[in-house]
Amino acid sequence: MSDALSTLRRELAQIEDLVIAARVLEWDQLVMMPRGGAETRAEGLATLNRFAHELFVRDEIGELLDELRPSEADLDPDSDEACLIAVTRRDWEKARRIPPELRGEMTRVASAGMEAWAEARARDDYASFRLWLDRTLELKHRYIECFPATEDPYDLLLDDFEPGMRTDEVRRVFERLRPALRDLLASAVDEEVEAFVAGPYPRGAQHELSLTVARAFGATEDCFRLDPTVHPFCISFATRDVRLTTRYAEDDLHGNSIFSTMHEVGHGLYEHGGDTALDRTPLATGCSSALHESQSRLWENVIGRSLPFWRWFYPQFRDGFGSVLADVPLERFHRAINRARPSLIRVDADETTYGLHIILRFELEQELLFGGLTTTDLPEAWNAKFEELLGIRPPNDRLGVLQDVHWSGGMFGYFPTYQLGNVLSVQIWERLVTDLADAYEQVEQGSFGAIHGWLREHLYRHGRKFTPAEMTARVAGGPIDPEPYLRYLADKNASLAAA
Ligand code: ZN
Repeated sequence: MSDALSTLRRELAQIEDLVIAARVLEWDQLVMMPRGGAETRAEGLATLNRFAHELFVRDEIGELLDELRPSEADLDPDSDEACLIAVTRRDWEKARRIPPELRGEMTRVASAGMEAWAEARARDDYASFRLWLDRTLELKHRYIECFPATEDPYDLLLDDFEPGMRTDEVRRVFERLRPALRDLLASAVDEEVEAFVAGPYPRGAQHELSLTVARAFGATEDCFRLDPTVHPFCISFATRDVRLTTRYAEDDLHGNSIFSTMHEVGHGLYEHGGDTALDRTPLATGCSSALHESQSRLWENVIGRSLPFWRWFYPQFRDGFGSVLADVPLERFHRAINRARPSLIRVDADETTYGLHIILRFELEQELLFGGLTTTDLPEAWNAKFEELLGIRPPNDRLGVLQDVHWSGGMFGYFPTYQLGNVLSVQIWERLVTDLADAYEQVEQGSFGAIHGWLREHLYRHGRKFTPAEMTARVAGGPIDPEPYLRYLADKNASLAAA
């Protein structure tokens, strides 16, 4: 056993080194690099990623996995070794199905498509992007053909982000949410947007306050960095080297870095919490997109938009911004950051309407791929469905169908995981509270260590060892269930209406 296993470990560690090097280049590109470096950087990244991929799909890796098969039964199925073998086998078998020529074409079209999308969005010119979308859809169909037929072909796209999850499971959750979220929105209090939402919120103070919260949540100085970017993200090179980015909007409370920081810290704590024994293996990351998003949302929303959190943090926050919030009592501030109202842009949506933005994309991408909806008719289909779900109509494509990057990069199957993450965040929180009954009292004291410790113990330390279904059962006590999330939203909206 041990010879083949240590060879496999060594091979995987070297591949992981290349993957990490590519991530460092990516981080640098988005945070530090002057624009002039773009062309050379694209080549460098492509080379590293190709090397990593070619090393991984070699016959030798498959032979090592075969050699290990007879002794696998002797391993504890929860051990790092058994999980490493199982996950590597799944990844290897999947990666081998895609011909290099198709993979290369997908990478090229994604990169050119994203560029075309950025220009189309800037000029509100959907027509110039439409042909790229057609090429992307055609490549998705070729990708699907690389796999044995499944009950629903969308399963194969979902599998890239949520391994093993089936479309009908997502549909079951979304069919429950669709009418329930619309009812919640209909019953939300409608009131004017408060003037203090428009700031100004100076960047310097935002950065200081973001750091204060990040440190309080557990993003320690020796293992984390926090830098400003246009689009916030989190990337990690090791459990002890996690890079967070945030954005600063001076004229919009909802775009205040505090919320994007709390979101990215949630992702970062998950990456940081992996057992260090998993470093330099393919297990050293979160389990799936939805579970990852459950952590960003748990810290950003379940904790970061709660009244107990702001009872602790509001005095410092208000002081940081001089006169803007001087006459704004805590309850009014709390209502402003939680109120449900329809808006056009997904990333700015409140917790109640966010799910409707996702359901729209989930339905449309299936119609585009398998239901006969053409890219010519897509903008109108978007606007009509938007009006049906949210009651307002986008005035142009820039604020409608062109707002997200995902489809231009070929990321079909990704959107639903955002909402599954929201649902899971509350499911996991409910479990956490059965062990830590005073969790919100601790939040109110600005004390997050026990919460962080619980999440590390029950979720973070396992990295990618288990399948999403297994991990969800372990941390949330069962399969994904929308009821806790709907109760949470109903309670929150009721308390805001009463305040
Ligand atoms: Zn996220």
